[in-house]
Amino acid sequence: MAEAKEYFAKSNIVILPVGSNEQHGPANPLGTDHLIAKALAEEAAKRTDVICLPVVPFGVSSHHRQFWGTISISPVTFKKYVKEICLSLNYFGIEKIVIVNGHGGNLAELAEMARELREDGIFVSVFQWWPAVSRLLPKLFEPEERRHAGAEETSVNLALHPRFVNMSKAFDEEPRKHSVMQEGITLPLDTLDETGSGVFGKQTSASAEKGKKVLEAVVNELVRHVNLLKKARMEDLVEKPKI
Ligand SMILES: [Zn+2]
Repeated sequence: MAEAKEYFAKSNIVILPVGSNEQHGPANPLGTDHLIAKALAEEAAKRTDVICLPVVPFGVSSHHRQFWGTISISPVTFKKYVKEICLSLNYFGIEKIVIVNGHGGNLAELAEMARELREDGIFVSVFQWWPAVSRLLPKLFEPEERRHAGAEETSVNLALHPRFVNMSKAFDEEPRKHSVMQEGITLPLDTLDETGSGVFGKQTSASAEKGKKVLEAVVNELVRHVNLLKKARMEDLVEKPKI
């Protein structure tokens, strides 16, 4: 507590990792998305001298719910929960929050929440590792390795915490195309409508070596962002007054 007081007295920025607890095929841990977010956030925190909060491990995952172990929070509750964490931080003077989001399914709520908080003078940015290094990833992985639980994500797991990955259970599965799917259509499908294993595409080609390359590049991007935000003046971050 004394350390928290000392930090909040001199700093107005924190890093908050959020993720999910959902199936990633038989080889990967359920915690994949929150474990990756936590590791990235902690490493960037170390390199920037910014504190990292405990990870929010559960997210919006109802599309995976038929798979054992998936825990899902409704979008409304998730947004409210993360928002209240941000408001508590703001009470202690935090005005800049970097959310490291490990699960794409959380993005819509996080983006909406960030817009709402900006109206209250709190600036929240959302960092996601896969778009952050979107130029590097296609050089390391084929398109069929880049989807949910594919070789891309599995490689990052292998680099970070190999003891949680069981490559003897790695699986490749080409996702099924739903009969009413066509270009420009959004359908309320679950993972199970497209894959029986929970793996979208190719997973067996994952390697720790590739994962390390991804991690190094991702952490560099995250550090760059945190340092930029640290330096940015609040008057350039808060919303503009009406004209
Ligand atoms: Zn994932």
